[in-house]
Amino acid sequence: MVKQIAVLTSGGDAPGMNAAIRAVTRTAIGRGWNAFGVRNGFAGLIAGTIVPLRARDVGGIMQVGGTVLGSARCPEFKTEEGRVAALRMLSQHDIDALVVVGGNGSQTGAFELSRMGYPVVGVASTIDNDLAGSEITIGVDTALNIALEAIDRLKVTASSHQRAFLVEVMGRECGYLALMAGIAGGAELSVIPEVDTDPEEVASIVRDAYKRGKPHALVVVAEGAKQDASALAAYFAIHRERLGFELRVTTLGHVQRGGSPGASDRLLATRLGAAATEQIALGRHGVLVGSLKGEIVPTPLAEIAGKAKPLDTSLIQLAGVLAQ
Ligand code: ADP
Repeated sequence: MVKQIAVLTSGGDAPGMNAAIRAVTRTAIGRGWNAFGVRNGFAGLIAGTIVPLRARDVGGIMQVGGTVLGSARCPEFKTEEGRVAALRMLSQHDIDALVVVGGNGSQTGAFELSRMGYPVVGVASTIDNDLAGSEITIGVDTALNIALEAIDRLKVTASSHQRAFLVEVMGRECGYLALMAGIAGGAELSVIPEVDTDPEEVASIVRDAYKRGKPHALVVVAEGAKQDASALAAYFAIHRERLGFELRVTTLGHVQRGGSPGASDRLLATRLGAAATEQIALGRHGVLVGSLKGEIVPTPLAEIAGKAKPLDTSLIQLAGVLAQ
């Protein structure tokens, strides 16, 4: 029987999403199925913007960041009414199964759709790396490398002027990117949502670096931290003398998202996209395909929906030891 499967990308865009779209499309075509792309995530599902994807349509997209299908945040999909409208469109287009490439929220949406009896397979994709069911998700490696490149450059200028820098990185409520960027970038400290950090603690660590004769001090701040970069900057604008160094603040923001995906993200996305098609071929759905202990494995969406993956606390300790 000819199967018709559709793929969509949802939530925050992540470098590597295009490689996942390409892999789903070409592995489906390889099985003799028809592949379709849904524009703009769940919003496109409700609007019925579903277009055929042929092998050539997904050529030349792997090296491009973001998603060629577009992504969106769609509050309507959180309602039963919205999802019923989406199911109607899937049925009108004779789509037998759906692949949802996205992060935490998107996979919760995928779970809700699968609970209504529709075959859905999720692909773990978010730069935040907060998704249970995958130790690493599509986009994390590229986003981390972009943050590191910025940190390396900021360190050079910080050293030239004897300055301290606060660098704010993305990651929503998860401190993974900030912690990893801090460790790999040789920062004095990472301020993350998972740990309460008082501004005076930041001051004492920066002042200490100054006293030890360091030419610069660098603190990575997660956007979701209670004391984010602007809160810390406001505090140190009043208590300037606490730091030793002069302070500058850089917020990386969306710069972190748009990069060309690196080899790791292209390969991960390709493997996950292919695995999603395979799950459908095996008649398995209601699962998220992710990477666990180096293997590509399915985890029931019911186990991961609405859950945030906790941060490895041993890495928090390691970061503290290394910043001497
Ligand atoms: P991400 O997938 O990157 O975590 P969001 O959290 O913004 O991004 O979620 C993306 C979309 O997933 C939302 O705009 C919404 O359409 C859908 N979604 C999120 N949570 C739910 C939910 N509880 N039920 C149904 N759909 C949801």
